[in-house]
Amino acid sequence: MSKQSNEPWLREYKRSCADCGVIDDFTITNEKTTFTYGSGDSAYDVEMVLPVHNCNNCGRQSTTKDAWAVETAAVYKYMKERK
Ligand SMILES: [Zn+2]
Repeated sequence: MSKQSNEPWLREYKRSCADCGVIDDFTITNEKTTFTYGSGDSAYDVEMVLPVHNCNNCGRQSTTKDAWAVETAAVYKYMKERK
């Protein structure tokens, strides 16, 4: 077992900018947000921090892919802790 506590979905990785095409030149900032999972009586809120990639070249902000991954991960984590 690794002692590293970094969440794997928050690790930096190489990616290219959808606007200007620059590769791996981003500043990553974290935005706290709440994601509602489910609906009706069984709905619950999961708090999470989303990594936002800010392109250093053109300034484009990107969250979509990461947001999906973090949302999914946060929901799994929440469900695990409830057991
Ligand atoms: Zn860019």
